[in-house]
Amino acid sequence: MACPTCGTSVLFGGVKVGNKRYCSKKCYEADEINRIAAQIPNEQVEQLAHELRNERCPKCKSHGPIDIHKSHSVYSFIIYTKYETRGHLLCKKCAIKQQTIDLITSLLLGWWGVPFGLIITPIQIIRNVISMSQNPGINGPSDDLKQRARLILASHAMAETA
Ligand SMILES: [Zn+2]
Ligand SMILES: [Zn+2]
Repeated sequence: MACPTCGTSVLFGGVKVGNKRYCSKKCYEADEINRIAAQIPNEQVEQLAHELRNERCPKCKSHGPIDIHKSHSVYSFIIYTKYETRGHLLCKKCAIKQQTIDLITSLLLGWWGVPFGLIITPIQIIRNVISMSQNPGINGPSDDLKQRARLILASHAMAETA
């Protein structure tokens, strides 16, 4: 039987709920939170997303709007290459700074892995340039911000029922 969240096969133990068996409590909660998140009314999500958007930027304390901006990085070391895309809840100015840092980091540290460093580094650099040229949330909360708001509401709902 496979864990519905991560796909690991679960032979013994884990968390059994109904006819599903999760490999760990963490996977059960992850699935549960998505299930609860899907049931949260859109108006509540919209409202919280607007509130989040109008908060001050956590980094520079300026009056937003803030939204989720993506930055992309890659590090390599010989045959090891690690790359990731992170979402940051920031104002546009701070987002550009973070994207610039990730771009320079990728430029300096991305290439030194064979073969993936050579393939992924230009991709991450271009992704940063694209993210820098975009301004999510300029006309209201982006879908990413709404999704974050939905998960915040779901985790509150989960804490209340626990
Ligand atoms: Zn799992
Ligand atoms: Zn800022």
